Amino acid sequence: MSEEGRQATEEHRRRQLAIRAAVLRDVTGVWRTEFDIEDVASSQLRVVEALKDVLADGKLRAAEEAADYYSQFRAIDGPGARRARPMGDLDGRRVDRSVGYTARIVPLKALKAGRTRQQAARAGLEQTMGASGRLVSDGSRETVIRAAEEDPAQPRWQRITGPEPCEFCAMLSARGGVYRAQATAVFEAHSGRGAACQCEAEPVYGERFLSEQQQRFKELYDREAKGTSDPLKAFRAAYRREIKPAA
Ligand SMILES: [Zn+2]
Repeated sequence: MSEEGRQATEEHRRRQLAIRAAVLRDVTGVWRTEFDIEDVASSQLRVVEALKDVLADGKLRAAEEAADYYSQFRAIDGPGARRARPMGDLDGRRVDRSVGYTARIVPLKALKAGRTRQQAARAGLEQTMGASGRLVSDGSRETVIRAAEEDPAQPRWQRITGPEPCEFCAMLSARGGVYRAQATAVFEAHSGRGAACQCEAEPVYGERFLSEQQQRFKELYDREAKGTSDPLKAFRAAYRREIKPAA
């Protein structure tokens, strides 16, 4: 693993964050125009329809950037550049499902729980942004993971986190380049509450040394969580104590 490769991945992660941020600005715009807390049932349908275009476009951009990155990274750390297929198709039913929940059930539940209209609308928007961000970022992760699966050089891939990941992402990233087949399901990016997941997948050709941050997470995992009955719970407690307090 070269320093140049690591840098390419970090630039890729930042470009993905920029793509996602631009999409989320559009999501907020759609929400402001279409969502009406006085009429959640029909306004959420307009939100879903408008978001399908915004998110399809965003996911495609994310996938195309990721395909370029894959080829570039392979030239640096693998056997040479190789075109990757952008996995940019957005399944409209996923938007129906996830935004149907965040723009309808979430605000209605909040109203029922006695929140003000403003708070209920806010909760709907926040969760809609979380779900949207995830749908867009999937374009990048799916592209890299699928390209690794189809790559004759048979790289594995590992999870690269942002600077302050949640404990779930930190724990998975500490495992290094262990992932191989059927890996898209393994990624398990989470949207929902707290800071949005900023993780990306990075191909691993041959020997890969853990980054300083990954070593730190691994050391914590081995010391506090390995072999316990509930490793995530043990790791989470240790992570909050030693690395990052709960948000
Ligand atoms: Zn993450």
